[in-house]
Amino acid sequence: METVDCVVAGAGVVGLAVARALALAGREVILLEAAEGIGTETSSRNSEVIHAGIYYPANSLMAQSCVAGRRRLYEYCAEKGVPHRNCGKLIAATNTREDALLAGIKQRAEANGVEGMRVLTASEAIALEPNLSCTSALLSPTTGIIDSHTYMVALLGDAENAGAVPVFHSPVLSGRVAGRQIEIDVGGADPMTLRCRVLVNSAGLHAPGLAGRIAGMPSDRVPTAYYAKGNYFTLSGRSPFSRLIYPVPVPGGLGVHLTVDLGGQARFGPDVEWIDSIDYTVDPSRSDSFYAAVRTYWPGLKDGALQPGYSGIRPKIVAKGAAGQDFVVQGPQTHGVAGLINLFGIESPGLTASLALADHVLEVSRTG
Ligand SMILES: Cc1cc2nc3c(=O)[nH]c(=O)nc-3n(C[C@H](O)[C@H](O)[C@H](O)COP(=O)(O)OP(=O)(O)OC[C@H]3O[C@@H](n4cnc5c(N)ncnc54)[C@H](O)[C@@H]3O)c2cc1C
Repeated sequence: METVDCVVAGAGVVGLAVARALALAGREVILLEAAEGIGTETSSRNSEVIHAGIYYPANSLMAQSCVAGRRRLYEYCAEKGVPHRNCGKLIAATNTREDALLAGIKQRAEANGVEGMRVLTASEAIALEPNLSCTSALLSPTTGIIDSHTYMVALLGDAENAGAVPVFHSPVLSGRVAGRQIEIDVGGADPMTLRCRVLVNSAGLHAPGLAGRIAGMPSDRVPTAYYAKGNYFTLSGRSPFSRLIYPVPVPGGLGVHLTVDLGGQARFGPDVEWIDSIDYTVDPSRSDSFYAAVRTYWPGLKDGALQPGYSGIRPKIVAKGAAGQDFVVQGPQTHGVAGLINLFGIESPGLTASLALADHVLEVSRTG
């Protein structure tokens, strides 16, 4: 049976960043992906926003990896020519109660190390975005947008140049602890069994399921997978805004916000729809709630302007109604299995945080 140094299961943006970091550190890496290509699941079903790091609890892995990852990501995009735009974002308050909340959001962002946050009067905000209706706003100048597919292609290129070998149509089916190594069964057209010293489970929505199929992995350390779908509606015609526009967050979510892609197409969402199994269908009737929410900050939205877009599914590890979750990078110190690193709950801002999360995984792989 063949033995390799490191196997990364899953070639989404995080698995790609991890494979790249391990390969650049001189490790032998095989990147096993169940699908036919890179990033076909959550990594191609998101808002493509480079998040500043505003809302996450201080010192959480989300806050730390988002801020550090965002700085790294802008540098990486500039270096590799990955299309992106540092367009900025406005959080728009639309009444006096929301006006009062902006200072607290700014304070939390600053505690996370987010640079340049500024509260604007209504007229300052409207001078920036003439179609906006607000009573005040919070400007986040470090927020941006990115072409996530080109970013993933660049990560794969770096990983391959450093010697990593991607293998597609190759799901990791199951595994077992074999002393200080892990033995894995790989399916697909050419099924095989491999041994590795390090296994990084970066299977996104499927990561808890995969961890549960590794004999020797303590089951009480495997979280239950929950799915929270986010639906998007696109706007026909040119975007009325050049920055991203967010309402003041509501308990449990960021509210229906507007993001723009690099082609200038605006979309609203994602909303939150808890589901029991993976299903990316967008129900057109959900647009009703979008119209009402968007008109609080953009009264100019015309009836019939929203078209069902696409959806992505948040890989949750806490149930609906539970307190927020942090990213979980679970190494041997937590579960006791030498060489196994599980990535659980890598929802937003996982794209932004990907380079920093990869560094974190590299560190865990060194220290055990
Ligand atoms: C609606 C939505 C909006 C978001 N918006 C943003 C945003 O604007 N900015 C931001 O920073 N983040 C955003 N995110 C978060 C971001 O998209 C994710 O954190 C990121 O894509 C996760 O990448 P991943 O590699 O962990 O998972 P995935 O992209 O899901 O990749 C997992 C891969 O593993 C493969 N796989 C599964 N099982 C196996 C197996 N057994 N063996 C081998 N391969 C396997 C899958 O085929 C897949 O390719 C958003 C997320 C959602 C849901």
